[in-house]
Amino acid sequence: MNFPNDLFLDGGYRAAADGRRIALVDPATEEPFVEVAAATVSDVDGAIRSAHAAWEGGWRDLAPGKRAEILYRVARVLREHNEELAQLERRQVGKPIAEARDEAGLAGRVFEYYAGAISQFGGQTLPVGRGGFDFTLKQSMGVVAAIVPWNFPLPIAAWKAAPALAAGNAVVLKPASISPLTAIKMGELAVKAGLPPGVLQILPGSGSAVGDALVTHPLIRKVSFTGSTEIGRRIMELASRNLTRVSLELGGKSPNVVFADADWEKAADTSPMSVFANTGQDCCARSRMFVERSVYAGFVERFVAATKKLVVGDPALDSTQLGPMASGAQRTTVEAFLADARARGSKFATGGGRPQSRGFYLEPTVLLDVGSSDRCWREEIFGPVVAITPFDDEATMIREVNDSPYGLSGSLWTRDLSRALRVSRLIESGVLSVNCHNSVHVEAPFGGYKTSGLGRDLGMAAMDGYTETKNVYVAS
Ligand code: NAP
Ligand code: MG
Repeated sequence: MNFPNDLFLDGGYRAAADGRRIALVDPATEEPFVEVAAATVSDVDGAIRSAHAAWEGGWRDLAPGKRAEILYRVARVLREHNEELAQLERRQVGKPIAEARDEAGLAGRVFEYYAGAISQFGGQTLPVGRGGFDFTLKQSMGVVAAIVPWNFPLPIAAWKAAPALAAGNAVVLKPASISPLTAIKMGELAVKAGLPPGVLQILPGSGSAVGDALVTHPLIRKVSFTGSTEIGRRIMELASRNLTRVSLELGGKSPNVVFADADWEKAADTSPMSVFANTGQDCCARSRMFVERSVYAGFVERFVAATKKLVVGDPALDSTQLGPMASGAQRTTVEAFLADARARGSKFATGGGRPQSRGFYLEPTVLLDVGSSDRCWREEIFGPVVAITPFDDEATMIREVNDSPYGLSGSLWTRDLSRALRVSRLIESGVLSVNCHNSVHVEAPFGGYKTSGLGRDLGMAAMDGYTETKNVYVAS
């Protein structure tokens, strides 16, 4: 396999200014397999300056139809390289290959959606009090910094880059240090598809080494970040210096609420993957389950049985549902949560251990009797761990659901339509699903309440977030 292992800048591959490289480790084998260039602060400055030049020198003023044509071609080229992208993703983060193929497909779909969105996106004409003619322009901002995580490396890179480019900006994208390969490849393929060099710069490297330089650079007009709440806060603080715009998609501790009147058997069969998919490394993971008491015992039994059937193993196999965790460090973090649960006397209905000695594997784990002030109930675990609790009445349950600093996603199971609508309004979260677990739709806004974030990815909302609004008044 050929690995894209350098910075991708100005349309070509470049080593880092000081030659530094970071080794990637295959999570399924724990073996290092490639070393990737790691950007320095001077690479960041160079990448931003030439992105700005590419924006000012052509991309900003390109006719919308031309921009759309290029983004449609990017979508097509990404699709043509689906298998290669999927294999890179599988190798760097241990993602099951079937999921990796779907996610590579999603990246193409995102570019296609925003290529189409270009012709539907614009300002307004307004009947202002003075008469005359008043209209708004949706203008590109300049250079956008995108900082993305390792849990869905390619889809999130695409859903930051595509709307920003569609709105006429240039993008400097920093992938997570453990998962740069698919983002680098996306940059290369975009240029192959006709995106002008410099308009999409890919800067692999360490966030702690170059993050500050990227966020505070005077030519950066917006920072779009997905990752931890801790780093999101830091980015917002740094961005305040230049009043750089930010959008932040951060953590979650999402609820999954099952009322007794629901098809609770279906909920029990499908809910394990709402928290364990991607080995639990999902900001939308439904990691707190609230089940109405009259069906609680039956629900737990069925949920545990469904969990035990999940196929954990080699991500290269088509049949695998759960691969290893993306890194040894992340597994260590999750195991500290499990140790805390043990110390506090929570019951492990299944899981809790390592299923095999090689690879960063961890069993899907179902916890019962978790206290409402325990770490496993309050904090984002970002691993394959769920806590299930019974509830007695709707109002108390909603208070408990909302008693969390997070508010990203969630599910709600009931056959009662008015209850579904009432509870949907009251749960404090940016995304909700009723009688299913789908949080992400390319066409719909995605993002969080409270410390889960600020601003929205996807849909027209994301494109709007990569523009400034200018009002122009023409006297008549
Ligand atoms: P993280 O540190 O927030 O990493 C996310 C991205 O931010 C990576 O590209 C990272 O680069 C970069 N970064 C790190 N420090 C930075 C800084 N000072 N300035 C600018 N960028 C910086 O997340 P993590 O440490 O990988 O994971 C920790 C926890 O975050 C997880 O356990 C989970 O709870 C949460 N998380 C949430 C999501 C989500 O989808 N909302 C995704 C990932 C993680 P490096 O890789 O080089 O550090
Ligand atoms: Mg970190």
